[in-house]
Amino acid sequence: MSATELIEQARKQGRAVLTEIESKQILDEAGIPVAKTQLASDADKAVSIADSVGYPVVLKIVSADVTHKSDVGGVKVGIESAEEVRSAFNDIVASVKKTQPDAAIDGVAVQKMAPAGTEVIIGVSKDPQFGPVVMFGLGGILVEVLKDVAFRIVPLEARDARQIIREIKGFPVLEGVRGQDPADIDALEGLILQISQFIEAHPEIEELDLNPVFAYKDGCIAVDARIVIA
Ligand code: ADP
Ligand code: MG
Repeated sequence: MSATELIEQARKQGRAVLTEIESKQILDEAGIPVAKTQLASDADKAVSIADSVGYPVVLKIVSADVTHKSDVGGVKVGIESAEEVRSAFNDIVASVKKTQPDAAIDGVAVQKMAPAGTEVIIGVSKDPQFGPVVMFGLGGILVEVLKDVAFRIVPLEARDARQIIREIKGFPVLEGVRGQDPADIDALEGLILQISQFIEAHPEIEELDLNPVFAYKDGCIAVDARIVIA
């Protein structure tokens, strides 16, 4: 399904929130680097997807009603075998049914486990006055506790992408600290510009979250994505 079709389908179902699978499909179509993800409606299907993409894999709950998948036991990383896929599938579904019994479950998403990188987040939200605004920050605790983030109004130019990254206090982390690899800042700038263009092309998108994006020495990839439409 194309981006337009996926958005239309969600609208018909009365949903504003697109699932991770739908969100990534739309982003992938726009050439944005995402960890490709496939839907498994049962454990056998999950195993066949895992066998085809190769181990290790990550399994996650797919439900438009679940906002923070980890909070409901909906994410398992580092799955190494078919047997582990089966038990992860069942554990995830059981855990979500227990913690959020009214959530409609589409199935479980299977994706390749991306190698560890420096975690950053890129988000877009709409300001009533300025319209869409891009947010950039480091991932995890630094964003949640220290609110170490920077903002730029869409459309961003190359200079805005350079600045938004360098403005955060945590920028030295991206340059590499304590022998850790530096992050590919050019790739992050490119991704931020791609997001700005994507949002300009899709005024029907109200919110976008790439949380996290893994940044490597070479390149970067979004491993989680969430799109909210008007
Ligand atoms: P949520 O934010 O809904 O709890 P995520 O999809 O962000 O769920 O997954 C939680 C964490 O699991 C991520 O922050 C990331 O560290 C890890 N993770 C998710 N997908 C992958 C992946 N494909 N490869 C490696 N790690 C992943
Ligand atoms: Mg996430």
